Amino acid sequence: MKIAIYPGSFDPVTLGHLNIIKRAALCFDKLIVCVLINSDKHGGLFTPEERADLIRRVVAKLPNVEVDSSDTLIAEYARQKRACTLVKGLRAVSDFEQEVQMAVINRKLNPRLETMFLASSDKYTYLSSTVVKEMARYGADLGEFVPREIVDDVDRKMRQAQEKENDLSLIHI
Ligand code: ADP
Repeated sequence: MKIAIYPGSFDPVTLGHLNIIKRAALCFDKLIVCVLINSDKHGGLFTPEERADLIRRVVAKLPNVEVDSSDTLIAEYARQKRACTLVKGLRAVSDFEQEVQMAVINRKLNPRLETMFLASSDKYTYLSSTVVKEMARYGADLGEFVPREIVDDVDRKMRQAQEKENDLSLIHI
């Protein structure tokens, strides 16, 4: 059974991520989308559990896609899951350098682990979770950026985060 892992922060999952998930799921018997807990991006909008739940909702109709979260080194996680491949999406040349470096390191740590790069679909090359959060902050329509099942969740979470920021700034006045 060919198992692949698609790791990332997914804070939150975007249509760009979903495009990669659907295309990768066609290439493997099983695809595990793994929310990385110990990435260097601190203080996300959603907790790792919430991010995984949002992805679960979005991939509910894809039978060979599982969702998990992990704070283990990804090369070790892949070994535990008996996965042969890491899937990465490439948006632009700017993604390339760091991703190739990670691929080489991961193969050193786990020589059976290949990294497969999927070029972003041209519709989504501009899209990142950071762009989504920026749009949500200004109340823009998120329908073009995230799967429709989660638009309301992202809007609601951003409102809550903004209310919290406002409360904190009042305390400091
Ligand atoms: P970001 O916060 O920048 O969206 P993530 O860590 O969540 O990044 O991304 C996980 C993986 O998905 C990475 O391999 C990243 O390159 C890829 N990815 C992110 N956005 C897109 C997109 N719009 N199209 C293709 N791949 C993407």
